[in-house]
This record gives sequence, C-alpha cells and structure tokens, in this order.
Amino acid sequence: MSQFDVVILGGGSGGYACALRSAQLGLSVALIEEDKLGGTCLHRGCIPTKALLHAGEVADNTRHASDFGVNAEFISIDMLAVNAYKDGVVSKLHKGLQGLVKSRNVTYIEGHGKLVGKNIVEVNGLQYTGKNVVLATGSYPKTLPGLTIDGKQIITSEQAIKMEHVPASVIVLGGGVIGCEFASVWKSFGSEVTIIEGLPHLVALEDESSSKQLERAYRKRGINFELGVRFASATTSQNGVTVTLEDGKVFTAEVLLVAVGRGPVSANLGYEEQGLTMDRGYLIVDNKCRTNVPGIWAVGDLIPTLQLAHVGFAEGILVAEEIAGLNPRAINYDGVPRVTYSEPEVASVGLTTAQAKERGHDVVELNYDLAGNGKAQILKTAGSVKLVAAKNGPVLGIHMVGARVGELLAEAQLIFNWEAEASDVAALIHAHPTLSEAVGEAHLALAGKPLHAHG
Ligand SMILES: Cc1cc2nc3c(=O)[nH]c(=O)nc-3n(C[C@H](O)[C@H](O)[C@H](O)COP(=O)(O)OP(=O)(O)OC[C@H]3O[C@@H](n4cnc5c(N)ncnc54)[C@H](O)[C@@H]3O)c2cc1C
Repeated sequence: MSQFDVVILGGGSGGYACALRSAQLGLSVALIEEDKLGGTCLHRGCIPTKALLHAGEVADNTRHASDFGVNAEFISIDMLAVNAYKDGVVSKLHKGLQGLVKSRNVTYIEGHGKLVGKNIVEVNGLQYTGKNVVLATGSYPKTLPGLTIDGKQIITSEQAIKMEHVPASVIVLGGGVIGCEFASVWKSFGSEVTIIEGLPHLVALEDESSSKQLERAYRKRGINFELGVRFASATTSQNGVTVTLEDGKVFTAEVLLVAVGRGPVSANLGYEEQGLTMDRGYLIVDNKCRTNVPGIWAVGDLIPTLQLAHVGFAEGILVAEEIAGLNPRAINYDGVPRVTYSEPEVASVGLTTAQAKERGHDVVELNYDLAGNGKAQILKTAGSVKLVAAKNGPVLGIHMVGARVGELLAEAQLIFNWEAEASDVAALIHAHPTLSEAVGEAHLALAGKPLHAHG
C-alpha cells in the first residue's frame, strides 16, 4: 500500500490546484484521474468554449469590418479549422499542466478511484492511503426528467464543443451562463438561435439590470428567447427536434442543447459508505472545505459553492494550506468574480441590488453608461458599469455589461474585496482611453464628482 500526506481524487481545477499547492508546501501527494488532467475546465468547459467564442468574435468583426472602414468579406465558418484552433489551445495548456504536475513531484495515478476506507482510495486494485483525502470529482451536465440526451440531436455542452458543423438552427434549453455562451457562439457562426428559460431573465443570478441589458443586446443580435416559461416535451425526427413549452408554444430546430445546470459526480464512489454528509449528491463541507469525516475534504463542483474553475482553484489551495497548518482565511464567496463570456460580456462581483437590500443595507446605486467612455465608442460596444454601495459606506457590488468587461473584474474584485469606498477609488487615476476608465468614472460619480457623465 502506498502512503501519502494527501491523496486527491479527481484531477480537475480543484484537484490539481490542491495537488500543486500541497507539493509546494512539502507534502507528499497522489493525484488520481480517470480521464485527462485538467478536467472539465480545460477539456470540456472554460477553455474550449472561450476559444469558440473568440472564433465567433472574429466572425462578427469580419462581418462588421466596413463599420471601421476595413474592406473584408465574411464567407463562412470552417468548423474543422475552428476545432483545430480550439484543440490546439487545449493541447498546449494540457501539456503545460502535465509538465507542471511532474515538476512538482506529484505522483500521478491514472484510473478510476473509489473511496474504500476513511483514508483509502482504491484504483485498479491498488490502495492509496492518505493522512488526508481530498475529493474533487467534479460535475456532469444534467438533463430534465423525460428528456433523453442522444448526443446527436439532443445534446449537452459535452457534444456542443465538438460539433463538426454549424447547425442551421438551435434551441438552447436554459438561459444561464453556459446556455447564453453557446447561444452567442452559434449566432456568431450563423445559426438561428432560440433560448428557452423558465426563470424571468437570462443569466438570472446576475443583477436584474445586467440581465435586461443582455436581453436587449441579444434581441438586437437576432437571438430569440422565451422567458418565464417551462419546457414541456421534446421529440426528434429526421427534420430535427420539436420542443413544446408549457404555454403551448412549439419550436423546431436542427439541434437542442440542454444547458439546465450541472450536478455533482458523487454516485457509487464510496462516499455514502464512508458516512459523508451529502445533500442532493453534493458533499457538505465547512468553511475550510472539511467534510463531516475527519481527514476527508471536498472541493470544486462537488460541493455546493459557485461552479467556477477559479473557485475550484481557490478551494484546492485553501485545503492544501489548511492541511499544511497555515490556517488560511476562509473564502468569501461574495467576492468571487463572475463572467458570462457572451457578446456582450456580463461581469460582476459582490452583491446585486436585491441581495444588498435583503441583507439590510441602506443601498445607493450608480449606473455609468459606456456611451460616455471613449474606448467603448472606439470598439462600438454598448453597456454599463453599475455600482451598488452602502450609503456612506463601501462598494457592495459591481455589475458590468459590454465587450471585454470581464477584464475589468481584476480591478472590480479588488474594490469589493478590500471594502473600498467610492472616494477611495475616485482618487485612483485610470489610463485614457481604456474601458477601465468606466470603473473610475462610476466611482467618481458615486463620490459626487462625475467627470464624463451627464445628469
Ligand atoms: C461548457 C462549460 C463552460 C465553462 N466555462 C467556465 C468559465 O469560463 N470559467 C469558469 O470559471 N468555469 C467555467 N466552467 C466551470 C468549470 O469548468 C468547473 O467549475 C470546474 O471544471 C470544476 O472543477 P472541479 O475540479 O471541481 O471538477 P472537474 O473539472 O469536473 O474535474 C473533476 C475530475 O475528476 C475526475 N474524476 C471524477 N470521478 C473520478 C474517479 N472516480 N476517479 C478518477 N477521476 C475521477 C474527472 O475525470 C475530472 O477530470 C465551465 C463549465 C462548462 C461545462
């Protein structure tokens, strides 16, 4: 039996971050992965989808080149070439990550692992004992009762990232982050797109003002959507997929993408048998990612925190540092930056107006329209920076819509997490002309000294 300080089950964002940091702190580490190191984010999530979105942006820029006085003609999308570009990015990052794990002396074990004792994981008949076991088995795409994924006409993101042609038409079931990103890609590639969302808004976890701006932008782009109405049934035929909604409306398309959320990978892995507390398949942990069983930890999409790669990284690092006795600060999940990488992008950190009010804050709001921002005009993008703040207190939330606003989160998250007040940020100088000036201008306005703002 091999013995380690830390045995990690699952080599995705949460698992490998924990492995790298544990090794850095001098702990002996085994990292067990049955598929590919890097997990969902690298192979089926963040990276491939953002490559597709970038290809879509290039297509849109080509279509609109004449708006900038450039003569170019959009002809078509060559999906095989798009996939080659996308896979090239993934493969380069995958090789880099493999090298990193090797160079940090992490023992990498390939195969399906199962928790067979409180500190033992079994892989291919061999047992690995850890003073600590970190569970990081991630998540899978869910579907709805009675809706069978056939992988061809009714698909999830797993198949969508590998499609070898541009579908003529697509119905996207679910207007959350993943659904909205694929809707954006396919529209840019030339598909007819309809999103169906049961909640009243697209990206419904965002501040309502951001959702409404995204909806306006999507309407302008010709992306159709039905909000506040639930899916009833879907049938397939040679002509495509027919979807019926509970209000009786019927839609037909070549493909139906099911993007109704992701569930934890926790069945048949020995978790129940070892007495781990679970809720709807998620492992329940405390604020240091400890399960109820001493020595067993859980991170990433397997626990009911935000399903984001950088949350997995942060939780993996937290656990490694806690095991090493560094007593790290618990994660403030309000302070996690969130981006929907659609066109336009939606980015936020901190509380929405509704959440801030619910928590009893006396809230002030400030909307800075990107119409007043030079760089936004150069890029021909529309959107805004919205601040939610406590009256005479710190900024509680920053909500942004527009091209490339995801990059502005670097500053926005510092403002939120350092509990800055508008006057603190107003004193900082932003380079002109950049989109980041919009963040500066919003704080100038909230501090009572607006510069390029009307009204
Ligand atoms: C389409 C899509 C787009 C996304 N885009 C973004 C984005 O832009 N930004 C962002 O932050 N997040 C994004 N995400 C979410 C992000 O991918 C996940 O939050 C992240 O991958 C979670 O990491 P994890 O380590 O918890 O799980 P995973 O990455 O799923 O890794 C779990 C690993 O465990 C392995 N495993 C499972 N069971 C076993 C077993 N029994 N034995 C051995 N190995 C096992 C799996 O093979 C897998 O590699 C996206 C997700 C999807 C699906």
